[in-house]
Amino acid sequence: MQIEQFVLGMFETNCYLVTGQEQGACILIDPADDAEKLIGYMEKKHLVPKAVLLTHGHYDHFLAVPGLQKRWAELPVYCHSLDCPKELEEHDMGMVFPTVTAFANVKSLEEGQELKLAGITFQTLHTPGHTPGSVTFQAGDALFTGDTLFCGSIGRTDFAGGSMKQMRASLKRLAAIPGDYRVYPGHEGLTRLDAEKKTNPYLAYM
Ligand SMILES: [Zn+2]
Ligand SMILES: [Zn+2]
Repeated sequence: MQIEQFVLGMFETNCYLVTGQEQGACILIDPADDAEKLIGYMEKKHLVPKAVLLTHGHYDHFLAVPGLQKRWAELPVYCHSLDCPKELEEHDMGMVFPTVTAFANVKSLEEGQELKLAGITFQTLHTPGHTPGSVTFQAGDALFTGDTLFCGSIGRTDFAGGSMKQMRASLKRLAAIPGDYRVYPGHEGLTRLDAEKKTNPYLAYM
């Protein structure tokens, strides 16, 4: 499994392009913005995306989806059901944001769901707190933690639907995973689970 990182959009969101056993196929985790850059990269490498996986339904993690679906109309978008609202837009503090519901071919994810895509097996861990439908994807020795766990910190819980209580339980769950993993967060730098267990103040006291 190979993982390429792109930092995209005004919130500097991490997008990960993952390739596995299947030749010419890839998976995009949180295609945050700049569809043209991602499409250009994949075309140059002769890769076709098999799916988009969203760690949660915040728009700064999926703004490239319309551009990607213009190029690959059937491209499925996986997101936890709790982050797939009925409305096309979300209103928060007087601002209007698009939601996952605006996209074609949205497939809702649930806790424990296993996805076999592009020759890679992804396990879905429901890790709410940042949003009700935040998930962590585990594939091989990699954890894609979205805005739940960052290097040395954690995601915010003060947005609509956020919950510090749920966040604590989710972090406890991640801290209880035995062994070491490479951690690919939704923002900022990469880290390792073992290092976070020891030094992240939100995990160290669990
Ligand atoms: Zn977020
Ligand atoms: Zn984010």
